[in-house]
Amino acid sequence: MTQAARSFVPTLFAALLLISPVSLSAQNPPQQPQSVPSFMAPPQASQAAQRNFPPLLLQQLSAIKAAALNDDYAYRQLAHLTENIGPRATGSPQANAAAEYVAAELRKLGLEVRLQQITVPHWVRGAEAATLVEYPAMVQGTTQKIVLTALGSSTSTPAEGLTADLVTVDTFDELQALGRDKVAGKIVLFNEIFDKQKAAAGLAFAAYGEAVRYRAAGPKSAADLGAVAALVRSVGSADYRLPHTGFSFPAAIPAAAVAAEDADLIAHLSSQGKVRMHLTLTPQKLPDETSYNVIADLKGSEHPEQIVVVSGHLDSWDLGTGAIDDGAGVVMAMETAEVLQRLHLRPARTLRVIAWMDEETGGSGAKAYTTEYSPDFPHHIAAIESDAGAAHPLGFDVKALPAAVDALRPVQSVLQSIGATVLQPTTYPPGADISAMSDAGVPAFGVMQDGRTYFHYHHTAADTLDKVIPADLRENAAVMAVLAYALTNMKDPLPR
Ligand SMILES: [Zn+2]
Repeated sequence: MTQAARSFVPTLFAALLLISPVSLSAQNPPQQPQSVPSFMAPPQASQAAQRNFPPLLLQQLSAIKAAALNDDYAYRQLAHLTENIGPRATGSPQANAAAEYVAAELRKLGLEVRLQQITVPHWVRGAEAATLVEYPAMVQGTTQKIVLTALGSSTSTPAEGLTADLVTVDTFDELQALGRDKVAGKIVLFNEIFDKQKAAAGLAFAAYGEAVRYRAAGPKSAADLGAVAALVRSVGSADYRLPHTGFSFPAAIPAAAVAAEDADLIAHLSSQGKVRMHLTLTPQKLPDETSYNVIADLKGSEHPEQIVVVSGHLDSWDLGTGAIDDGAGVVMAMETAEVLQRLHLRPARTLRVIAWMDEETGGSGAKAYTTEYSPDFPHHIAAIESDAGAAHPLGFDVKALPAAVDALRPVQSVLQSIGATVLQPTTYPPGADISAMSDAGVPAFGVMQDGRTYFHYHHTAADTLDKVIPADLRENAAVMAVLAYALTNMKDPLPR
């Protein structure tokens, strides 16, 4: 993220950081190692680590890993969430049905389950269509369709649509240079290109962060200069003419993401002369709804007051069925509890499974949890969230003291056979829903997946069950369960 962009929209970014884990990652992209850093050191347990992980605990961790790798519980739960329940947009009946379903399943496992009531926004998609109606050398009678989808918080055009000239910019600075004279009354397209090479090289979240600022803050900056609508090039790493929706700060104008191919088309034609668009978007903001976080405890046998959180978010965007974002994270957390119960392993500290609501449109679930439970954060020993898909896990992003990372060397050894030994220190909370806990000093972990294909499908109609490879999901369930049980049962809690 450039300083220019940050100073341009500082308050918007402050808010974005609260709700978007991916922008968090991007704000602080992983540093290229200058020398071999500690997280790449071969797993090697210090004496303190060995005291913390007696042989019996290490055997149990291996048993948990083996059980999770040989079980399809998480996948079956994900199939139910995505195929039987379907898209789980915040405020929708499906989102609440999913909360009820997860609560019932966790009760079946013997957990103490609570539905924490929250108030959530309810935005629903309407008609969405666009065509270019004038451009250089247009052949009479041509319809140049533009593939797009409304961004969350987009307002509506008139039912019959609106027609306006297009202005294409690559950056916020370009928009400012145009000024109100050249922007007022127009439709602005932000054509920031997602850096696919960066994503393919393993820096997908850094690439996302660079592009997503235009989705988040572009419509508002265009509206501030009098634009009648705003478009952003889809933030995604594959070109199948799929638009990628997502959160955008309320701008009080219609706002949409266009497929990358159509952003190119508009940019090319605009470089030749005047381009006009007819745009119809009719989403609606409905009254706020009641919804729920699912909070389920497997009580600790020795320190029931000490809590280790495992979590993912239950809400999804409406276009797909939310398999990779983030049904997968929820079912990994469910399987952590399921494996412990199946193996009759009682955690010494309390394992708390949380299925968060409303990560995608404002984080009201995480805020409600923080409001109610922050006095208890000193007893929250650690928090884990998975919200970066379900591809092969590499390990964890960790926001904790170096001594805490060091204390987990024995866990790296257990996870070595999966290839999930990375404990990557971060300077930012490694999960949107656990960010308040992390900021309060709770050691925080984000499951780190291979992100090379995540943004092919993220926030599109193609975020569906088939994108999750069962063997990869089993590995993810295993790494979350192993770390969680290590955290509930290691002798001393992690230093903080
Ligand atoms: Zn997510």
